[in-house]
Amino acid sequence: MDTQNPVVRLSHIKKSFGKNEVLKDISLDVMPGEVVAVIGPSGGGKSTLLRCATLLETFDSGDLFYDDMTVARTGSNGKAEYAKSDVLRRAKMKFGLVFQNYNLFPHYTVLKNIMDAPICVQKRNKEEVERQARELIAKMGLEGNEDKVPCQLSGGQQQRVSIARALCMNPEVVFFDEPTSALDPELTAEVLKVIKKLAAEHMTMVIVTHEMQFARDVADRIIFMDGGVIVEEGPAEQVVNNPQHQRTREFLARY
Ligand code: ADP
Ligand code: MG
Repeated sequence: MDTQNPVVRLSHIKKSFGKNEVLKDISLDVMPGEVVAVIGPSGGGKSTLLRCATLLETFDSGDLFYDDMTVARTGSNGKAEYAKSDVLRRAKMKFGLVFQNYNLFPHYTVLKNIMDAPICVQKRNKEEVERQARELIAKMGLEGNEDKVPCQLSGGQQQRVSIARALCMNPEVVFFDEPTSALDPELTAEVLKVIKKLAAEHMTMVIVTHEMQFARDVADRIIFMDGGVIVEEGPAEQVVNNPQHQRTREFLARY
């Protein structure tokens, strides 16, 4: 019997901004090694979902677990109650996050961007972190750029630095929010290639993307979100090639 915990479990998450209910009862389990692609029209709540999962945003009700760690649970008053700050701090070590706009420190070198959090936040040994950072730089195809600052790199290179930076924390799951949306097609391809490489190594990932071909190729499961709900989810091939819902069909027809 498979008794593995999900790496991350979101259960009945609701989130409003004022009167705008942006997440309407979203539940999502991500299992170890699983690659989940989240697709759907702009404004559907995809970024908010990732921001809630990564504690950049609080949700109103619902439960959030990382492995066996309870991050938030709905209390008896129906509102989400968050764990104490030391639990939240430990939970933040479980995931990495890659944004559309890289969010690198502009005045730090590539190497320093990657090494900063493992040393300052995780309090790890500098030599050990540097060894791992250099390995990741090689893996991302960024050799020779160690001492450059972000503005000396292409967008695709910057995004690969930000992926290396996320990986250097040894996360159990990496969340990507439209990692290639700011890139032209050539640079998009090089970023998708490294994400594919991670998928082949069974890195657990949740990827919000508009790259349908990529989603179908790389994801185990695709979730189609629209209007704050999961309209449809299933094996990647099935959702892309044989969507069950009219809204999914209409969305995919645009690609
Ligand atoms: P997606 O990533 O699928 O495009 P978002 O999660 O960014 O969707 O947005 C979902 C809805 O939430 C939109 O209506 C957006 O305007 C609203 N929203 C997102 N962030 C905020 C915020 N910080 N304050 C108010 N409304 C927000
Ligand atoms: Mg978004």
